[in-house]
Amino acid sequence: MNILLVYPKYPDTFWSFKHSLKFISKRAAFPPLGLLTVAAMLPEGWQKKLLDLNVEPLLDEQLAWADLVFISAMIVQKESALQVIKRCKALGKKIVAGGPVFTTQHEQFQDVDYFVLNEAEITLPLFLDDLAGGRPKHIYTSEARPCLTRTPVPLWSLIDIKNYATMAIQYSRGCPFNCEFCDIIIMNGRVPRLKSIEQMQNEFQALYDAGWRRSVFIVDDNFIGNTPKVKELLPALIKWQKEHRFPFTLLTEVSANLANDEELMQMMCAANFFKVFMGLETPNHASLVECGKNQNIAKKMSEVVDTIHRHGMQVMGGFIVGFDHDPDNIFELQVRFIQQIGVVTAMVGILTALPQTRLWHRLKAEGRLLSDATGENTDGLLNFKPKMEKEKLIAGYQRLLTTLYSHKHYYQRIHTFLRNYTPTARTRLTKEDLVAFIRAAWRLGILSGARFRYWQLIVKSIFVKRKALPIAVELAIHGFHFEKVLKRVCRP
Ligand code: SF4
Repeated sequence: MNILLVYPKYPDTFWSFKHSLKFISKRAAFPPLGLLTVAAMLPEGWQKKLLDLNVEPLLDEQLAWADLVFISAMIVQKESALQVIKRCKALGKKIVAGGPVFTTQHEQFQDVDYFVLNEAEITLPLFLDDLAGGRPKHIYTSEARPCLTRTPVPLWSLIDIKNYATMAIQYSRGCPFNCEFCDIIIMNGRVPRLKSIEQMQNEFQALYDAGWRRSVFIVDDNFIGNTPKVKELLPALIKWQKEHRFPFTLLTEVSANLANDEELMQMMCAANFFKVFMGLETPNHASLVECGKNQNIAKKMSEVVDTIHRHGMQVMGGFIVGFDHDPDNIFELQVRFIQQIGVVTAMVGILTALPQTRLWHRLKAEGRLLSDATGENTDGLLNFKPKMEKEKLIAGYQRLLTTLYSHKHYYQRIHTFLRNYTPTARTRLTKEDLVAFIRAAWRLGILSGARFRYWQLIVKSIFVKRKALPIAVELAIHGFHFEKVLKRVCRP
């Protein structure tokens, strides 16, 4: 049996880092971790090929080779997924589809032959059994949440890791919090399910053996969702990193309570974590209460961010406007907040009602749902009737983005961040980093309107915080990407 696994293209989004990738000669930011894991669950005797459309185009010969085409996609990849499905159908190929967009909206994909929905650890074996018996069903779905202790190591041999900027590993699924807009807890539940320490060591080793020596994104919904277990895992990761001379810098997603736990921050720092993404959402207390983000209410967010920066981890933040309780001046409040806390990578989106979330149900009951979500965090599209006048919200949002990502505000934030940040991660500078530095010097230091600010940043970093120089250059390069993406979003 010949299996072609296809990962659809994602648009030019905030997290695609498309415009930054050119600086480091990479084609995509992250590998298709879900499909690689599914590939490892398929029978060993099957021939498998994986095609990531973010890296290379899909050719008819590749489709012709396949007996079955597996597609996995997030909501943001829906358009590309539909195109792939159309091409498969035109060539008479059978399609197996799974992943978030199919799990939440399978009725919108008429041409898919088999849906393997929810978590593959449960539904995929059922499909494979029926396929072997010659009677596969149209839909496989299950509300059960599997434990992850038997989830295999992704089949890294199916991709060329050199095409990617960062590798990915998953340790846990689920998050104990209950934010109203969050679809993660709908898909993965509120009780974190974890891989074992041994599995994590094997996953690290597999990437190391594949030749990887850069950053690794632990793609958990909330890495610290089960703190006692994370504290059991981290010593093993620290030991592994030491024994291998710290080949990986680590990044992940966490909740704000990380800043309350000195021991945990020190352990993460020792394991070589250098970035964490956190939903900071809003400086407006009533909006935090509205969305149930209680973990952000207990402590001042400026202290949370400062504390984590001092422990060597750069905070990347998610921010939202469009809550019912947002005052008219929320846009100005957000700018002031984000500038003050020095979160450089600030992903600001308009509140979105993702399918089946508590928010979605509330807005549906109130007759305020307008359309499906695009799954893109920063496209400025509204899929519900806001309390604030719609035009005012969209105009304010665009003003907010334009201000935040103006050269002046962006570089100011880098300086604020660097002032509080203690660089601790052990990074290995590679030839690619040197090339990126030269390209940045040309693109940002000569051609860009931000050239003065760029060189000022470089000089200041060299004299004041030399160890932070690579991160300063990286942030300047990301600023170039964000500027391009936001131009598209703010287009009139
Ligand atoms: S903390 Fe993050 S992952 Fe957890 S429920 Fe809230 S938004 Fe979702």
